[in-house]
Amino acid sequence: MKHPLHIYADNASTTQLDPDALEAMLPFMRDGFANPSALHSGAKKARHAVEDARNVIAKCIGAKPHEIIFTSCGTESDNWAIKGAARSLDPKQAKFITCAIEHHAVLNCFEALERKGFSTAILPVDSDGIVSVKDLESAIHGADSGLLSVMLANNEIGTIQDIPALAEIAHRHNLLVHTDAVQAVGHLPIDVNQLNIDMLSASAHKFNGPKGVGFLYKRDTVKLPPLIDGGHQESGLRAGTENVAGIVGTAVALRKNVEHLDRNMAHLSSLEKIMKTVISEGIPEARFNGHPDRHLPGLLSLSLPGMNAEGLLHILDLKGIAVSTGAACNSKETILSHVLRAIHLTIPHASGTLRISFSKDTTESDATTLASFLVRLYRKHIG
Ligand code: PLP
Repeated sequence: MKHPLHIYADNASTTQLDPDALEAMLPFMRDGFANPSALHSGAKKARHAVEDARNVIAKCIGAKPHEIIFTSCGTESDNWAIKGAARSLDPKQAKFITCAIEHHAVLNCFEALERKGFSTAILPVDSDGIVSVKDLESAIHGADSGLLSVMLANNEIGTIQDIPALAEIAHRHNLLVHTDAVQAVGHLPIDVNQLNIDMLSASAHKFNGPKGVGFLYKRDTVKLPPLIDGGHQESGLRAGTENVAGIVGTAVALRKNVEHLDRNMAHLSSLEKIMKTVISEGIPEARFNGHPDRHLPGLLSLSLPGMNAEGLLHILDLKGIAVSTGAACNSKETILSHVLRAIHLTIPHASGTLRISFSKDTTESDATTLASFLVRLYRKHIG
């Protein structure tokens, strides 16, 4: 599965659809197009396909099938978990806690809750992006209802949080625990019981599934009112005709990723090692952000001080190499991402930060080519 670009290193943004997932989806976009809620035999086939997919997905994360509810994306799952929890709680009493490096799908929900009068707290992170248990203990002091939402793996620097330890504290104070696992599902071993969580958000296009499909894991003891009003799909919890083909493709993609998880993680770690060796030798002043051990394999946040990341991105793009930046420039100023600000990167480091995210299909030669090219570019510009 080779991407048409020379080197696609923007997998944290989105991944290529797995060919087996595509094959599994096609019949449901052709003859098997029936509405799974209808009563005829074609509909039953579609219904069975959705339920088979639910079983597969549940197994991949250690959940029960009825605890998986299909949504349209990670953003919807995050909105539902956070706003749904708020709907059933008293704004005068409940406390909502998150951390400074969450995706905007979570942070903007917290802003919405604040406007509705809820008490919220945004926990800081250390320079590796880790949320401290002590900070949670101070923020949660005196609370006895609400929600803790902390992401499993960060989308810019890859840092993985100690969710079981944070969840333990939150549960002691009677808070629900949600984790945005959009970057982690299909890339890290996940067991919802080991994580000690009540809700988890995932998005298919981040693990070689199709765009437009996500799911929320909701422990069966958690009562969550629907976010979307309408029909009785998804056991009355999420209205709207199911995206049958997309759901089928999601299950195939996740099953494949989970089956090959150890191999994929080892491969991504070896690509990361190549990048780190070549870059560190060629650019001693370079810095890799995120926690050195607790991070997503294959996601590198690389700061090249003195470089302009956006300019670098365009040079790489012209060579057919796709990456992301951690800062965007307009004519007057450089806008640093909230994540890089939260880990207190200096402006020269943050302005020169690229996010390089490999996939299981990236080759060692891709990693060497990209690293060597970056070293040459840096030496040419900085000397
Ligand atoms: N949460 C995280 C951590 C993400 O990285 C993303 C997407 O980049 C989202 C949520 C939103 O997911 P979606 O694009 O499926 O809405």
